[in-house]
Amino acid sequence: MQQAIVIGAGPAGLTAAYELLSRTDVVPCVIEQNDRLGGLATTISYKGNRMDIGGHRFFSKSDRVMDWWLKILPLQALDSQLPVRISYQNDNRQIEACCDGPDPDKEDRVMLLRRRRSRIYFDRQLFNYPITLDFETLLKLGPLRTIKIGLSYLKSILSPVKPERSLEDFLINRFGRELYLTFFKEYSEKVWGVPCTEIDAAWGAQRVKGLSVYKAVLHAAGRILSKTVGVAQKDIETSLIEQFLYPKFGPGQMWHEVAEKVKSGGGTITSNCTVEKIFTAGERITAVELRNLKTGALTQVAADYLFSTMPIVELVRALDAQVPESVRQISEGLVYRDFITVGLLVSELTIPSGAEGCPQDNWVYIQEPGLKLGRVQFFNNWSPYMVADPKKIWLGLEYFCSISDEIWSWSDEKIIALAVDELGKIGFASKEAVLDGCVMRIPKAYPCYFGTYPQFGELRAYLDRFENLFLLGRNGMHRYNNQDHSMLTAMQAVDNIAAGVMSKEAIWTVNTEQDYHESKS
Ligand SMILES: Cc1cc2nc3c(=O)[nH]c(=O)nc-3n(C[C@H](O)[C@H](O)[C@H](O)COP(=O)(O)OP(=O)(O)OC[C@H]3O[C@@H](n4cnc5c(N)ncnc54)[C@H](O)[C@@H]3O)c2cc1C
Repeated sequence: MQQAIVIGAGPAGLTAAYELLSRTDVVPCVIEQNDRLGGLATTISYKGNRMDIGGHRFFSKSDRVMDWWLKILPLQALDSQLPVRISYQNDNRQIEACCDGPDPDKEDRVMLLRRRRSRIYFDRQLFNYPITLDFETLLKLGPLRTIKIGLSYLKSILSPVKPERSLEDFLINRFGRELYLTFFKEYSEKVWGVPCTEIDAAWGAQRVKGLSVYKAVLHAAGRILSKTVGVAQKDIETSLIEQFLYPKFGPGQMWHEVAEKVKSGGGTITSNCTVEKIFTAGERITAVELRNLKTGALTQVAADYLFSTMPIVELVRALDAQVPESVRQISEGLVYRDFITVGLLVSELTIPSGAEGCPQDNWVYIQEPGLKLGRVQFFNNWSPYMVADPKKIWLGLEYFCSISDEIWSWSDEKIIALAVDELGKIGFASKEAVLDGCVMRIPKAYPCYFGTYPQFGELRAYLDRFENLFLLGRNGMHRYNNQDHSMLTAMQAVDNIAAGVMSKEAIWTVNTEQDYHESKS
């Protein structure tokens, strides 16, 4: 019997374990340092109120991923009156929404179909996101700023920044300087903690994708004309997707379900345990040393395969091998951005809200100078089942930071006080309306594309030499990705093992922007 050690019970690790059990004879042993499952895509429960780190939309252009998710958690029954089309398979096979799916009021194992809405808070006003340059937006911006936006956009068309080196250049070339300063600069710099001039333009190409002023105008027109809604995501730019799937109890529910399947299928999952040492012999991994974080006990476990989703910097430190000094330096120079979410339970909001006392947004970006706050999540709108008392509003106030920043080591009380104060400053809720709060600190939430990242190729080449080591997922590959990418890298690694392919190339080139049609391939 062959054994794979899988480091991390996040989307990549659990997908790898599930796929190994489904398609090979290799038995997975998943090692997770936390007591919760799902990695960054976990759900945290505080007094019955559930919190999602960042808010995880479940969508993918990959049929393989969409099918996989819906196999684990079936789609809810949809109102047959609505012209909702589910065309997640491919263009040739569209499945009409099933009205006999589970009813989320009665069943828990269910995937909801949710509408996406997000806005940007700027200058004490809320603007639709993605930016739609419609009449309402221009009215809010006022005539002077609108003229400036138009002129600076024209300038960016007539004389774009060349060469396009930084994220700032990238955004100015697509939106013009004025629109960039209005809607992008402040927020991007909060997320990454460095000026947009220091972030590579390639980041914009990967994450902001095909958005532009042209598409913003087109999208505004499309919203007026379109009467049907669908989950067919493949022909839409990712940032313009208007619906997504979401487990009834948040993303952690998906990964709990998968973990149960892994265990019932013969795999093991060991929580509160960290991989501290990785033993090698030549170009093979032979074993790992585990530390039980509750007892401190150390054990050694043999590995025929090692799947790693742990941060690369920590993997390299754990390697019991002669790591070349240049490789070690690159690994030590990788930069991560950390994240704090403050859950606040409020009795009422002071911004325009719907019948349930909550606006329709899933989240609002805070693009307001002088505030530390980066984003506000409205968990009620991700899933109404996330909130213990539906009459209350359950918010997530997000702070992007680094572990070395002061805020990281503040007491929970001090962080909550900051969040309550800033919630009041943006006019969302008064201090008196806040009933309760909690704080979650998430280290290494974002792998950054600066620091030594430009030399990443040398590090990758060194690690790829270990033939039975598979680097997977977000921090495992140092990729600023979504769940679908992490899952596809895991699926690809198992494809490799099943086919006896030694090269890691196909794993590194997984691209979630491509269409994946199982039937076509
Ligand atoms: C704010 C935010 C918003 C996001 N929004 C979305 C979204 O809308 N849609 C979407 O699809 N994705 C979203 N993502 C991305 C998504 O969370 C990731 O793509 C996904 O969780 C990555 O999965 P992973 O398994 O690769 O890594 P992780 O989720 O990071 O899991 C890695 C696991 O390894 C464990 N681990 C690390 N080191 C060790 C060790 N030494 N020993 C044992 N265990 C270890 C960790 O504890 C963790 O559980 C978002 C992420 C963030 C931070």
